[in-house]
Amino acid sequence: MHRAQEALARGRQLTRHRPATLEELRDALLSHRALRVEGLGLQGAWAIPVEVEAVVSMRAFAGIVEHDVADHVVVVRTGTTLQALQTALAERRQCLPFGTSTPDPGPGSTLGGLVAMSLPHTLEAQSGSWRDWVIGMRVMLADGTTAKCGSKAVKNVAGFDVQKLFIGARGTLGVITELTLRTFATASVPMERLTHIEALGDGPIAVQRTLPANFHAACQASGPKVADAASSTLWVAGEPVRQPEDWVLRRGAGVNSLSIADPTLIAMMRRAKDRFDPEGKLNPGAMGVV
Ligand SMILES: Cc1cc2nc3c(=O)[nH]c(=O)nc-3n(C[C@H](O)[C@H](O)[C@H](O)COP(=O)(O)OP(=O)(O)OC[C@H]3O[C@@H](n4cnc5c(N)ncnc54)[C@H](O)[C@@H]3O)c2cc1C
Repeated sequence: MHRAQEALARGRQLTRHRPATLEELRDALLSHRALRVEGLGLQGAWAIPVEVEAVVSMRAFAGIVEHDVADHVVVVRTGTTLQALQTALAERRQCLPFGTSTPDPGPGSTLGGLVAMSLPHTLEAQSGSWRDWVIGMRVMLADGTTAKCGSKAVKNVAGFDVQKLFIGARGTLGVITELTLRTFATASVPMERLTHIEALGDGPIAVQRTLPANFHAACQASGPKVADAASSTLWVAGEPVRQPEDWVLRRGAGVNSLSIADPTLIAMMRRAKDRFDPEGKLNPGAMGVV
């Protein structure tokens, strides 16, 4: 169920907010009992259905706050698109080493949406991913409280890396408003090493990550359109053939788009949700379990 369907289900238009300031974001969060947080909304059909009163689009919450070229650090608001950030960094011969062959990240993908999803990309094994690049963030919790985690220092060992909890949490714990990211010299970015590269088409798609030992068997069984041996990741048109201990994310499969089965992990995720968003206001159900 997405935008129009959500509205239909409730028999009225969803309220849409496009905050450009922290005050506007706080007002939006405090005005509703259940909200969906949105970047550009590209995740669309991948999303697990959530029942909400309003949508908070972070698109207007954009812009580069600071680029420290010498220290290879950029501070950016989360409605900024990856494309806009890469263009600005390129002027100083820097970038985020996000694999350019990654299927369908969408040119308008926002940094907030990408970090909240933390999906694989085609240079991940060689250059790391969002969990490596995000060294600090600012978030707003559902009750309007703001928090700053991490810092501009790349090696930050004081206390928990709380920002890591928000990476991949699909907007269920808080709204990420600002990111502090490591940047890389463009000349240092390695080549992608893909074993398959074809267009995926518009039909059902799954991303499958296997154990390295099962990667070649998975390629033979699933027939991926794009495959990266370095990170054992396959992008498959249709349904992949499952491998032991693999991880699969599907488009357009509703609650089956992400399945987490480990009861201990589910209990920990529920405790994090209870702490950060005790009223269950943000993206209710979007992780499938919390
Ligand atoms: C078929 C398909 C395949 C894709 N495959 C890949 C892939 O393999 N790798 C990849 O990197 N990308 C992939 N993407 C793209 C990826 O889904 C989007 O790049 C990502 O969703 C960001 O887009 P968006 O800005 O529109 O965010 P949205 O789609 O609007 O949001 C994505 C999630 O992030 C949350 N969110 C958004 N902004 C914030 C914020 N500021 N704070 C907290 N939570 C927030 C939302 O609530 C939602 O849960 C794929 C997309 C499609 C359609």
